[in-house]
Amino acid sequence: MSGEMKRSGLSKGAPAPRFSDLESLREHLGDCARCSLGSTRGRLVFGVGDPHAGLMFIGEAPGRNEDLQGEPFVGTAGRLLDELLASIGLARSQVYIANVLKCRPPGNRDPLPEEVELCTPYLAEQVRLVDPKVIAALGNHATRHILGTDRGITALRGRLFQVDGRRVVPIFHPAAALYDQSKRAVLFDDFKRLRSVLEMPEENEPAHAGQMPLL
Ligand code: SF4
Repeated sequence: MSGEMKRSGLSKGAPAPRFSDLESLREHLGDCARCSLGSTRGRLVFGVGDPHAGLMFIGEAPGRNEDLQGEPFVGTAGRLLDELLASIGLARSQVYIANVLKCRPPGNRDPLPEEVELCTPYLAEQVRLVDPKVIAALGNHATRHILGTDRGITALRGRLFQVDGRRVVPIFHPAAALYDQSKRAVLFDDFKRLRSVLEMPEENEPAHAGQMPLL
């Protein structure tokens, strides 16, 4: 049904084996070819940052620069993300950054459902190992997947959600602001809200899974 919230995509698919740390998970992935992107990618983009960060960013998939460098959110969108982080007093090394897919879809096309299903268990295991209090879902695809909804980012940004005991904050993808200057100001506002969600005491948690408006 249009707009309905379903089970989070993070809990779908065959669960990945459990690992004791991110390095072991990365080692297990190796030169992963579980989906067809394994044969078209340049470099597998695992994730980067503080392995025990309280804040984890999840985007859609690596783009061209990420595919070349093997790191998420590099290039112009990555520089904007660094600027947004600095605006709330954080550095890239203090958060963890990953994507729903670890390999670039050719020509930056949308991820296919089977690619998402095969790769998500590894993202879910990354989330379990990092154990962030807050997840910032960047852009339409990541937000829909994490929240299990078909509603778009424009309707969902500015709200706070709960998934498996974690706070989830949908935010425009920084790349969207590169082509639409009006989104730049919205992004900086959303990061201020993100800071307030990070600082929100646990007793202010909504009593049940769901959503509530941000401040
Ligand atoms: S996208 Fe994920 S499942 Fe597909 S090859 Fe890359 S790491 Fe493996």
